[in-house]
Amino acid sequence: MFPGADEYGVDIDVDDADTDRLLSVTPADVAEGTSAAHQTSSGDVDAPAALSFSRNVFLPLTTACRYTCTYCTYYDVPGEATLMSLDEVRDVVKMGADAGCTEALFTFGDAPDDRYTEIHRQLDEWGYDDILDYLVAACEVALEEGLLPHSNPGDLTREQFATLAPVNASMGVMLETTAAVDAHSGGRKKTPGQRLNTIRAAGEEGVPFTTGILVGIGETWRDRAESLLAIRELHERYGHIQEVIVQNVVPNDRSDFDRPSIATMRRVVAMARVALPEEISVQVPPNLSEAASLVDCGVDDLGGVSPVTDDYVNPEYAWPALQELADIADEVGVPLRERLPTYGRFLPDDVRPAATTAAPAPRHGDAWIRPPIAERLRDDDVHGERLRRVARGVGPLSTPDR
Ligand code: SF4
Repeated sequence: MFPGADEYGVDIDVDDADTDRLLSVTPADVAEGTSAAHQTSSGDVDAPAALSFSRNVFLPLTTACRYTCTYCTYYDVPGEATLMSLDEVRDVVKMGADAGCTEALFTFGDAPDDRYTEIHRQLDEWGYDDILDYLVAACEVALEEGLLPHSNPGDLTREQFATLAPVNASMGVMLETTAAVDAHSGGRKKTPGQRLNTIRAAGEEGVPFTTGILVGIGETWRDRAESLLAIRELHERYGHIQEVIVQNVVPNDRSDFDRPSIATMRRVVAMARVALPEEISVQVPPNLSEAASLVDCGVDDLGGVSPVTDDYVNPEYAWPALQELADIADEVGVPLRERLPTYGRFLPDDVRPAATTAAPAPRHGDAWIRPPIAERLRDDDVHGERLRRVARGVGPLSTPDR
């Protein structure tokens, strides 16, 4: 049982034999398809036929967070934390829509605790009960301006997902690891059980979901294997995981973690590709990883990149330009494809790409995509047209020479 799992009633038992098989995977296994672990996974693993990415704007709605993870430069302490106004949100999403983006990425930490009196006072003055109540309003602004919200607001309950799902095309939270690591220690810390509970709640509520592991924060190889298998188990129950990010920690102003070597990342990516069913994409962030060196290990997605905003979680590591993504794809000899934040199999029938098979219906409710998002995708305006064209893989933009 993983740390904190009892507290949240999370019943995931990763099989030791599965873990051992995954630990035997090497990058060559992916290329050659010969390992025992590979053969007992969901089927043959082919080299990716394409690399995908989504074009987004990054909105750090608040820099307040109740936790203090030691590798994190995102959060600000009480008194220094910021809160974007809805006017600021509107300015950014309009700029993004003008630049051809499809995704409004609302990423922040976990709900500000009582220490953040100024944040709570401001939310109250603006007429909102809490940061999630405010997030709904911010998502509505993004939809009005033509972008699809994808929110990563930390740990949530099923009820909170039910509130946020109608205004989000997809959502996410990083599992990071199923291990108890010192990087999460201290008076305020998130736990693996809490993260797994969030991923489970997303599945119960039928939310297309992104998660991932963080490599190099003190976890062991066995922890990495178990983390991937725990994600797989939750996906097998609910079918909601669309992509798994394999992210390396990076040194920054607040910490001096060693950046994992390319060899380490190649092995972890290969393990992810073998552990996860084919319909789940394996993603590496190209601003933090040497993506071109990892693609042959099973990477098929480069995540969200922004032509207009910074990566506020890793501000020292700028997004690559679209041309750089194209160069990575050229280097590995596969086409580059733009996608929406929501993967095609979760989209409504009339928007889904013709060659993409629909995901089985969610356990809860009728559809993965709620009416406000479906309506946005169908809108007869320039934004609806852009979203539909990206969904179907026919636009709107690529690099100038493509
Ligand atoms: S990593 Fe996330 S949860 Fe941890 S302190 Fe940073 S914003 Fe908060």
